[in-house]
Amino acid sequence: MSTSESEVKVIVERCEALYHDVDLQAVVDWKARTGRAAIGFLPIYVPREIIDAAGMLPVGMRGGGDQIEIIRGDAYFQSYICQIPRSTIELGLTGRLDALDGVLFPSICDVIRNLSGMWQLLFPEKYARYLDVPQNFDSAVGGVFYRRELEGLRDDLEKLGGRPIDADALRASIVRYNANRQALERLMTLRREAPWTAPADESYLVIRAGDLLPVDEHTQLIDDYVAAAQRAHAEGARPMRDRTPVVISGAFCEQPPLPLIRTLERAGCYVVWDDMTLGARWLTADVSTEGDPLLALSEAFLHHSTPTASVYEPGAHKGQPLCDQVRRCGAEGVIFAAPSFCDPALLDQPMLQRALDRAGIPWTAFKYAENLGQFQVIREQAGTFADSIRLWSEQGTEQASEQRSERRHEQGKALESSRGNGERPGATSEQGSDHA
Ligand code: SF4
Repeated sequence: MSTSESEVKVIVERCEALYHDVDLQAVVDWKARTGRAAIGFLPIYVPREIIDAAGMLPVGMRGGGDQIEIIRGDAYFQSYICQIPRSTIELGLTGRLDALDGVLFPSICDVIRNLSGMWQLLFPEKYARYLDVPQNFDSAVGGVFYRRELEGLRDDLEKLGGRPIDADALRASIVRYNANRQALERLMTLRREAPWTAPADESYLVIRAGDLLPVDEHTQLIDDYVAAAQRAHAEGARPMRDRTPVVISGAFCEQPPLPLIRTLERAGCYVVWDDMTLGARWLTADVSTEGDPLLALSEAFLHHSTPTASVYEPGAHKGQPLCDQVRRCGAEGVIFAAPSFCDPALLDQPMLQRALDRAGIPWTAFKYAENLGQFQVIREQAGTFADSIRLWSEQGTEQASEQRSERRHEQGKALESSRGNGERPGATSEQGSDHA
């Protein structure tokens, strides 16, 4: 194994250990070192800058995945909803979330709204806040409303932390998170241009490590991974394979188990974009550091959010952003992977599928639960999907086959050239290219 490949392995192993840290030992250790508080938040997006500016650690909560047995959590919810609220309650009742001094419940769907009420009944001694989002995207209407929500959150955290959060502290946190988003964009660009260099499971683990790490540490970790993965490719590891580039859509809240992500690439796909852990990549442009920082965060949410099923889009042409995303990242198909019973994802799907049909983009769909343990059927489905696209490209439309070879050739050249210049791929690409 090359030196750089060993470096990648060390980084990914660290991220995987954080992925398995359902007891939040990393948060316990951080609190012991710093003497400060930690605030958890449910998927998808919360403005972590406000928590960071309060001197607290924002902690992403992703449910129990496939790592805990649900014994008591089932008793609190009906059977026909998704898995994440049950596993979150189970984690809470078993003391695994005791390191958290409070929890934010962003407005995603009715399930999260109900979970926030349940949480407040079960843990009345802990801080909890349901964070509403605007349904109107006019700055003078929804913007005023959302800024007021953010102000309420700031005031709560000031009380909890016993110290004021001034505008300079907020601006400093915005700078840190802008740097983090830029690093994430460099990683996403590498995936888009050379997915064999940054496989989906590794990228996922690297992004997800940000749920538990302080933001600066996470930014450094992303850059270390990207640099080491590029060097490993240059040293002959991580060769390009003949796989079908696809986009995954629908996995923005409850997360698929890690083996499922691995299964998709082993079945013959390259996942060049996905909406897993979307909250970290939610804002598609830098947040302004000028003027009122709460207003800047509000404006960023209104005008630079990634389109997804849980956000109301007035007058939007459903599906167009997904079609644009597919074209932008050179994907040849879409895999709809949504949690079972996920209302936002599954209600949007028919509209998205119609848009893909109109655009001539192939798709397939399956559902999962975070604790799914069998992957053979999904492997066969994804493998057949990837093969059928290659077959159509090669026999049905020679032009598509040629375009794919040409694109890979160009991507390989771009990667070589950026390596030769000591640049990271995407270092000069446009920030926020994921926004449609
Ligand atoms: S998985 Fe879907 S239905 Fe369940 S909490 Fe998340 S957004 Fe809501």
